Amino acid sequence: MRLRLSESEILKRAAKLERILSSCTLCPRRCCVNRRAGERGHCGVGAHAKVASYGPHFGEEASLVGSHGSGTVFFSGCNLACVYCQNYTISQFKEGRKMGSEELAAIFLDLAKCGCHNINLVTPTHQAPMIVAALGLAGGAGLEIPIVWNCGGYESVEVLQLLEGIVDIYMPDVKYGEESAALHYSDAPGYVRNIEAVLREMHHQVGDLVIEGGIARRGLLIRHLVLPDGIASSKRVFELIAAIVGPGTYLNVMGQYRPCYRAFSYPELARPLTKREYLEAVIQARELGLSRALPSIAEGR
Ligand code: SF4
Repeated sequence: MRLRLSESEILKRAAKLERILSSCTLCPRRCCVNRRAGERGHCGVGAHAKVASYGPHFGEEASLVGSHGSGTVFFSGCNLACVYCQNYTISQFKEGRKMGSEELAAIFLDLAKCGCHNINLVTPTHQAPMIVAALGLAGGAGLEIPIVWNCGGYESVEVLQLLEGIVDIYMPDVKYGEESAALHYSDAPGYVRNIEAVLREMHHQVGDLVIEGGIARRGLLIRHLVLPDGIASSKRVFELIAAIVGPGTYLNVMGQYRPCYRAFSYPELARPLTKREYLEAVIQARELGLSRALPSIAEGR
């Protein structure tokens, strides 16, 4: 088990991340806007943390939830623009409240006091500097539970390198296997090319997911939401995962797609996923050796 970085080292990293806000390249969009001077890029968030809600959450993977829940913090805004986003009021309409790093640190500490097994940062990418500053303060005040980076996978490798030793569990949702779909449905140019480097870096930092006593401690937990009509190119996603991080990786193939937000304007997305589509994806993942965490075919029926 690695040692956590000191509070001062984490705050130094936060300062480096904060400088990036002056010409923002926190994510692959590279908007180059000065968020510290009030400009806004694609994510629409400035230089303060903005939080929509927080609390113990029981809807995540069992190893994150345990008996007392995952200490989940939903950040406002997003660097992706998925037309089917389930959390669109938070991600696209940016519902939430601005707060300073001290208040965010107090939230992290409260969640730990409630017995949560981790701090689960949902959509953290575009708020990385403010989050890391708060983690430094909370670490200095005794925060010890694992930190989960729960993201859409559209990350900057340079930023991830500054998170090494701070984040314990990377949880990217690998959304697409083809660039055209990433562009069309999430307005994310270069998503697939970028995700390869992202997975390599995440896996290099934390390795495969380690679960002790039923609770996730450290490692890479990959999610993939299967979309109707083969839109996500799930087989290609699984091939990428198998080639880059190998069959030991923990993969949650998710079948809960339901249309919402702007999905009704896209006929191919305007219906739920069928069981057959989900099972086909599970079988494809199994055939590539990615069986860790997959349901049995009987369970999926
Ligand atoms: S974090 Fe926001 S402003 Fe910065 S590059 Fe990404 S989308 Fe643009």
